[in-house]
Amino acid sequence: MTLSVTKNTVVSFNYTLTDEQGETLDASGERGPMSYLHGAGNIISGLEQALQGRQAGEAFTVTLTPAEAYGERNEANIQRIPLKRLGGGARPRPGQVLALQTQRGPVQVTVVKVGRFSVDVDANHPLAGKALTFAVEITAVREATAEELSHGHAHGPGGHSHG
Ligand code: ZN
Repeated sequence: MTLSVTKNTVVSFNYTLTDEQGETLDASGERGPMSYLHGAGNIISGLEQALQGRQAGEAFTVTLTPAEAYGERNEANIQRIPLKRLGGGARPRPGQVLALQTQRGPVQVTVVKVGRFSVDVDANHPLAGKALTFAVEITAVREATAEELSHGHAHGPGGHSHG
């Protein structure tokens, strides 16, 4: 019997991610298929829904709205902070991604503009506000192991590895 993608299955798939202009943003490519535990919120919700009920060998393309992918951009997430808050080191460059220490822990931000004493950083996800198209090819669907279910993620090739 062929297993369909349902809650508590581990799904392996190859993908190519493109934006509205058709530019490739990411692809599994030489990394090989990625694996995830279905129904555990390990991948973006729109993609997880598009995979539901499918089987190994299926290929499909799905375009997700920003809300179904990484959310809308929030301009309030662009903030001006003092350069010294970055703690010395090399001067940041626009486009650079930094881990900013906050009271809620480290947050990844993208440098927008660098002034003499301050820097404008954008805490939006780099893919926020973008409609994303995934071309997906499912390579395997299997039952999750008890250990994977207790961890809430897939193990093995393309999945989570514990160092
Ligand atoms: Zn684990």
